[in-house]
Amino acid sequence: ENITIKRALLSVSDKSGLADLGKDLAAMGVALISTGGTAKALRDAGLEVADISEVTNFPEMMDGRVKTLHPKVHGGLLARRDDAGHVASMEEHDIAGIDLVIVNLYPFAQTVAKGAARDEIIENIDIGGPSMVRSAAKNHDFVTIVTDPSDYDTLLAELKESGGATSIDFRKKMAAKAFAATASYDGMIAQWFGFADQQQMFPPTLPLTMSQPTELRYGENPHQMAALYLPDGPSARGIAQAEQLQGKALSYNNYNDADAALELVSEFRDGPPTVVIVKHANPCGVASGDSILEAYKAALACDSVSAFGGIIAVNRPLDGAAAEAMTGIFTEVVCAPDADTDARAIFAKKKNLRLLLTGDLPDPARGGIGLKTIAGGYLLQSRDNGQITEDDLKCVTKREPSAQEKADCLFAWTVAKHVKSNAIVYAKDGATAGVGAGQMNRLESARIAAWKAKDAAEKAGWSEARTIGSAVASDAFFPFADGLMAAVEAGATAVIQPGGSIRDDEVIAAADEAGLSMLFTGMRHFRH
Ligand code: 5GP
Repeated sequence: ENITIKRALLSVSDKSGLADLGKDLAAMGVALISTGGTAKALRDAGLEVADISEVTNFPEMMDGRVKTLHPKVHGGLLARRDDAGHVASMEEHDIAGIDLVIVNLYPFAQTVAKGAARDEIIENIDIGGPSMVRSAAKNHDFVTIVTDPSDYDTLLAELKESGGATSIDFRKKMAAKAFAATASYDGMIAQWFGFADQQQMFPPTLPLTMSQPTELRYGENPHQMAALYLPDGPSARGIAQAEQLQGKALSYNNYNDADAALELVSEFRDGPPTVVIVKHANPCGVASGDSILEAYKAALACDSVSAFGGIIAVNRPLDGAAAEAMTGIFTEVVCAPDADTDARAIFAKKKNLRLLLTGDLPDPARGGIGLKTIAGGYLLQSRDNGQITEDDLKCVTKREPSAQEKADCLFAWTVAKHVKSNAIVYAKDGATAGVGAGQMNRLESARIAAWKAKDAAEKAGWSEARTIGSAVASDAFFPFADGLMAAVEAGATAVIQPGGSIRDDEVIAAADEAGLSMLFTGMRHFRH
C-alpha cells in the first residue's frame, strides 16, 4: 500500500545532501522535525524546521546522549495506523505519526580509525539513532526509513513517481538495509572492545561483522569456490588492504602466500634491507643485506629451484636494480612498501606479475586472531605475536656463541617462526642456508634442510654448503639428540631452540660433546 509522507524526522551525522533533500521534501509539503545540528543545517538552508524538543517537550540533554529517546518520537514511529487501539493511544497522549525517518549514525568506525581516545570513541556510540532506525524499520508497513545518503535520490524518485508517497516494496527494501546497517554498527562496536583491549578480551566477540565478500576465481584447487571477506570497522592493515598496481586478480593461493611473505618480512621492518621468497606459504629463501638487490640474490641462492613461481616480499621500497633482478625468473607476486618509477616501469613489462604495495609494514607484535574451520566448528587463537630479544636467550652449553653465531641464531629463529612445523632453519651471515618445513618428525626436517643446502651449493658452484658454520633454529624442542646430531653433521656450530624437553640433559650433553653453542628461548613457535 502506498503511504503519503506528511511528516519527516531528520537526524543525521553525515550532513551531505541534507539541504537538497530538505528542500525537495519541503516543496512536497512535508513537515520537517529535526535534532540540534541537523535542524541548524536545514535552517541555514532557509527551511522551516520543528525542533525535536518541541515534539518531546524535553530539552536535548546530556551532551546529546538523550535527544529522541521519547514516547512522542517512538510512539509516532511504532504505532500501527490501522490498529484502533494504537490510534486511540496516539490521540490520548497527543502523539503525531512520523512517516519518514532520515537517520545516519554517529561515525563510530571513523572515530576509531582516526585514533581517537576512548572517551571520544564511546561518545560516538549512537544510541538514539539506531533506536529510531529500528523503530521505523520494524513499522515499515507505515513508515519509510532511509539510512544511507546515497539513497536520497532513490527516495525522491520514489516520492515523485507516487505523488508524495512510498510503496510497500520500497519501504521493505529500505527496512532491510536499515537493519543491516544497525547490525553492522553494533558488530563494529563489539569488535572494538576486542581491539581496544587485546589481551584481556579473550575470547573475542563473535560473529565478526564482515563486508560483502569479493569472489575469487577459485579456492586452493579449481574445483573449490573461494571468496575474500574484510572485517567491517577497525582492523589491522595487512595483505588484504594492499594496493595492487598490475597483474591478474589475486587468487586464493596468492593471498595465502603473500600473507605469509608479508608477515615474515614485517618481522624485519626495523632491520636491514630484507627479502623473503615464499612458496606454498613456506619461506624458501630469506636474506638481509646492504640493499634489496643484495638481499634478493642471497635469498634466491638459498633455493633457486623453489623460488620459481614464488611470492616475494621486501621491507624497503623497490628500486630499478632490485626489480630487474626479480623479473629474471618467473615470479607470481611482489609485495613491497612502495616502488619507485624505475621499478614500476620494469614490472610493467611483466604483465602477469602482480605488484602489491602495502605502505608501512604491519607491526609484527600487534595482537589479532587466527581462525580456522574444523568440521562443525571453528578454532580460534590469538595471533602468534611472540617475540624474543637477546635478553631472553639462555646459553645452556659450555661454549657461549660468538656475536655472529648469536645474530644468525636470532635470524634463523625469526624465520623458523614462519615455517610450517616441524621447522628447522639453517642460517649464516644473515641469510637462510636451508629450510626444512612441514615434516612429521624433527629429524627429517633437519636432514631435508641440510640436503637442500648441499644442493644449492652444487647449483651455485660453491665449494661447500652454507650449513657449514651455520646457526640452526628449531621451532620446538628436540625431543631426542638425533635431530641435533643431524644438524651437527650438516656443519652447524650454534643452535637455538625453546628447550623444555624431558631429555634436555641428553640434548645439552650431545651439544657440549660436539662443541656447539646452544641457546634456549623458552618460547615455541608451532605453525600448521
Ligand atoms: P545532530 O547533528 O542533528 O545534533 O545529531 C544527529 C545525530 O544524532 C544522528 O547521527 C542521530 O543518529 C543521533 N541521535 C539522534 N537522537 C539521539 C539520541 O537520543 N541519543 C543519541 N546518542 N544520539 C541520537
